[in-house]
Amino acid sequence: MKLPVYMDNHATTPVDPAVLEAMLPYFREHFGNAASRTHAFGWTADEAVERARAQVARLVGASAREIVFTSGATESNNLALKGVAEAYRTVGDHIVTVSTEHRSVLDVCRRLAEQGARVTVLDVDGAGLVDPEEVRRALTDRTILVSVMAANNEVGVLGAIGQIGLLCRERGVLFHTDATQAAGKVALDVEADCIDLMSLSGHKMYGPKGVGALFVRRSRPRVKLAPLLDGGGHERGMRSGTLNVPGIVGMGKAAELAGELRELESARLTVLRDRLFRGICEKLDGVTLNGDAVRRLPGNLNISFASIDSEALISALHDVAVSSGSACTSATLEPSHVLRAMGMEDRRIHSSIRFGLGRFNTEEEVEHVIRRVVDSVRSLRAMAPGHVPAATVAGPSHAGDTGED
Ligand SMILES: *Cc1c(COP(=O)(O)O)cnc(C)c1O
Repeated sequence: MKLPVYMDNHATTPVDPAVLEAMLPYFREHFGNAASRTHAFGWTADEAVERARAQVARLVGASAREIVFTSGATESNNLALKGVAEAYRTVGDHIVTVSTEHRSVLDVCRRLAEQGARVTVLDVDGAGLVDPEEVRRALTDRTILVSVMAANNEVGVLGAIGQIGLLCRERGVLFHTDATQAAGKVALDVEADCIDLMSLSGHKMYGPKGVGALFVRRSRPRVKLAPLLDGGGHERGMRSGTLNVPGIVGMGKAAELAGELRELESARLTVLRDRLFRGICEKLDGVTLNGDAVRRLPGNLNISFASIDSEALISALHDVAVSSGSACTSATLEPSHVLRAMGMEDRRIHSSIRFGLGRFNTEEEVEHVIRRVVDSVRSLRAMAPGHVPAATVAGPSHAGDTGED
């Protein structure tokens, strides 16, 4: 086993070796500009981009022409929300989203609100989930877009996107989902789930950083989008700028692998994740699970340790890479807006740790992490007497493919 152990796969994932292999020729001999129409260098690059487009489309049940490549999910979310707000300005000005969305959705909504849009931010329950009926109640005649994530990056809970998609479709409102964390982990189908726009990121699914995609529905309904970037008119005018060919090739390969490996990998990660939780709970009291126990990503475990400061625990766990609930999704050190939105007290937020298991984690690593967590929590508690044991809650168990609707 190699140390340190990487168990922060919601922050980013390592590039799969097969992805790197697929990318390398596009740095070397196939360096052409995919927009060059006059020679083989351009044609080869363009063919590779179109292959990748089809690979990404297949993962989510879309057609290749509905995939726009971007620099990542942050850009995809910006393009989806700002692009729809602008293009549908004459239709309406109301957007509905949820308090636990990624910053790249919430901050865009705040910006749009400053510019005059009306934004409704719905609350979640204690398990981190929004009730689809609340979404329905929030819709008005002026609503143009609903944005609800497929899987949360902190607590891993799976949104009821199928139900929300359907009720948006019935009301003629566009539905966007940030599926950055869900892609390759749970089944996604833009048709079955009535999704009109979907954001994806390469580096959250064992592809490279700096590349992402936005699914933009082309029929029933055909989504109109105002671009963020003007220029050469690449990506059917929705995203100008020379294409990142090696990155796009890597994202395509990553999407293909994700589709092939998803079921087995999710089953394996569920077993490892449940072992991690049980192993910790068997030896420690005062451990509570954050987020719904069942409707959750297979590799996610977010727990709070009574009487423990998560930053101190992370320092003590120096050969295990995990993340705290105090700062995971942004460059700032604010306490998690997700855990806060779930109604958690500050004390519990500041004692939370997010474990993110991924493709390359092994059983041996899980056993190591259990030992390190148990030892570290015990010694931290011994240094700060007065720890009162709290009840331990039931463990998570993956809902499987039926969990996301
Ligand atoms: C990581 C992440 C993003 C941002 O993706 P980038 O490709 O890093 O810009 C957006 N949404 C969710 C849910 C994420 O986990």
